[in-house]
Amino acid sequence: MDALSKTKGAYSLIIQSRKKMYAIRDPHGFRPLSIAKLNGGYVIASETCAFDLVGAEYIRDINAGEMVIFEEGKEIESIQLFSAPIKQCIFEHVYFARPDSYLFEKNVYEKRKQMGKELAKERPVEADMVVPVPDSGVAAALGYSEQSGIPFELGIIRNHYIGRTFIEPTQEQRALKVKMKLSPIKKFIEGKRLIIIDDSIVRGTTSKRIVTILREAGAKEVHMRISSPPTSFPCYYGIDTPQKEELISSHMSLKEIEEYIGVDSLAYLSIDGLVNSVGESESFCKACFDGNYIV
Ligand code: SF4
Repeated sequence: MDALSKTKGAYSLIIQSRKKMYAIRDPHGFRPLSIAKLNGGYVIASETCAFDLVGAEYIRDINAGEMVIFEEGKEIESIQLFSAPIKQCIFEHVYFARPDSYLFEKNVYEKRKQMGKELAKERPVEADMVVPVPDSGVAAALGYSEQSGIPFELGIIRNHYIGRTFIEPTQEQRALKVKMKLSPIKKFIEGKRLIIIDDSIVRGTTSKRIVTILREAGAKEVHMRISSPPTSFPCYYGIDTPQKEELISSHMSLKEIEEYIGVDSLAYLSIDGLVNSVGESESFCKACFDGNYIV
């Protein structure tokens, strides 16, 4: 407790001895941490989808600033160590968490679909079909399609043996991976006006590559819609995002990004639209969108 009172920032801790286990969430509750029951004991995870895998029964989230103590033969004990404004990471809803998880007690898939609906209300455009960037844009694209009435098609197929591209260290490696990872279904794409949905644009290179393969496949128009606001600031709370200079929206205007990635139009969901999709504004950290760092 003494050490934690001197510790600032985002953390989730599990400390174990032979007979005891402590689970602790930082005072602002940046990251999720949940408790479930399994075989008469307890398990802790940062994503509830892990509970489904092992057949554990979700009980509750650990509160921001709470220490929960588990001891053999005893009831769970809870100590509220700190009290501070809640700042849950809103980007978990946009990008990090798996859609089958419950995050801060809300279903991720449902929230992402809602972001797509908000995006369709805020940023409509005439087109023949809505195509998600697999898999990051699927839920939002379904929401966009439902709200706009424009048909949803899986026009791009993802090779599931290739992982996330933004963490590859060099530009060449990232470009090669995108090429290996995504391929368009030409029959659907040719001569069509497309709305491409993704959850975010980080450096812009992946989006550029996707637009290029769609143009090569014969797309008539490519409109990109992003189900979160521009990511203009780095995260200092445990997420390994690129430095500010590498975030495309920190140094390029909307028009410049449109030209760079080669789309007919580009639009993002507003911060208000994102917050409306997820929950109350006050309880979220949105620093990578608005630069307001609480710590
Ligand atoms: S800065 Fe962004 S990614 Fe980091 S905790 Fe805040 S909302 Fe999440």
